[in-house]
Amino acid sequence: MPIQLFDSLERRLKPLAPSHPDGVFRFYNCGLTVYAPGHIGNFRTFVVNDVLRRLLELEFGKDKVKHVRNLTDVDDRTIGQAKKENRGLAEITQHWTKIFHQDCAALNLLPPHAEPTATGYIREQVNMIECLMEKGNAYRAPDGSVYFKIASFPGYGALSRIQERELQVTNAIADADHKDSVSDFALWKVYKPEEDGAVKWTGPGGTGEGRPGWHIECSAMSKSILGDTIDLHTGGVDLLFPHHENEIAQSQCCNGTTFARHWYHSEHLLVDGKKMSKSLGNYYTLGDLVAKGYSPMAVRLALLMGHPRKQLNFTLDSLHAAESALANLRAHRASLATAGAAHEAFAPVLAMLQDDLNTPGALGALFTIINRKDGEPDAASFDRVMFALGLDLQKPAAPAAAAPGAITALAEKRWAAKQARDFAAADALRKELTAAGWAMLDGKDGYRLEPVMKK
Ligand SMILES: [Zn+2]
Repeated sequence: MPIQLFDSLERRLKPLAPSHPDGVFRFYNCGLTVYAPGHIGNFRTFVVNDVLRRLLELEFGKDKVKHVRNLTDVDDRTIGQAKKENRGLAEITQHWTKIFHQDCAALNLLPPHAEPTATGYIREQVNMIECLMEKGNAYRAPDGSVYFKIASFPGYGALSRIQERELQVTNAIADADHKDSVSDFALWKVYKPEEDGAVKWTGPGGTGEGRPGWHIECSAMSKSILGDTIDLHTGGVDLLFPHHENEIAQSQCCNGTTFARHWYHSEHLLVDGKKMSKSLGNYYTLGDLVAKGYSPMAVRLALLMGHPRKQLNFTLDSLHAAESALANLRAHRASLATAGAAHEAFAPVLAMLQDDLNTPGALGALFTIINRKDGEPDAASFDRVMFALGLDLQKPAAPAAAAPGAITALAEKRWAAKQARDFAAADALRKELTAAGWAMLDGKDGYRLEPVMKK
């Protein structure tokens, strides 16, 4: 059965298939902006895309899939963070790239075949901007920046179904911004010493020094590595407009052909029913959850518990459920000591995944089969399903929320203070523990430490 996936552009399920004569399926996934750790909303997208990558490998063969995921290492946020910390841009972005790679490995994400960075593809971006200027799709503003002229591309808005009136122009604003139309977007941003510091490159012919706009990097890197037309382009739903709409405009105007044959977007992640935000205390990185004692594999599994095209409500309860589900899977694998007959006992699980990446359906089918306990053991089929879901059962299970040594030391100090009836000191130490994300629950003869949500 071919993999069927919803196409955000055509708004229907379509089979996935390679279009190039070499039979290699070309797949581009918009990656992370490396100025801070990725949060679990980012990782939901990357985990879903990893399952997709694994399914494609099972379907077309390991060497017949080419997966590109970029790193945005120059934009307002990365430059802003470098300024804030008074460090070089590369120092900041390399640091966060390293952390991102550690998180990806912990979550068992297959590394992409290419991981281009925006700063590594400046020449290609400049070339593409020059191409768009020559073709009349881009213009140089009086200040030296270059903008894409949306009115030059009649197909603009097809992906997001944005109405023309929403893109309407007010000349007053347009003039103030040096643009012909407010909806035109920057391809090249002229150098501003007070904002950009040392970050600048030679611009497209006839323009000043500066840096690329954000959207052009994906068009240029995709073209360089995968060619003018790719088989699948993916990202989180927040990228659909304007980022992906702008990518289509840039690529199709420059290349004169279809950019992506298929678009796929995964939905937002909520935590405790709300949009994640630092001020609400429901903002998690992978590191935050590991510090609370959860295993990265449980995080991965919890991120797959909802349908990727629906909002997922992530809670610590769902992580507990994921930890015990993993324990069941480990126990089942241990019971399949011999490589059983290849009768594809778990085929219904793969069928669910192949049907629009129905991950909750797949997990439901998986546990139905395991709990039935009457089938013949089939280790090969089980392992194939674990590969597709990316669940590495060899990775260690989480310790029962073991507190780090520094936390235990604080707790010991507080317990001693309380026994000595130094309540002021005990209170101060409790506050320290809470700030570090741990609650100390006192009993008659001792205490218990529990991870709490960081405020
Ligand atoms: Zn992108």
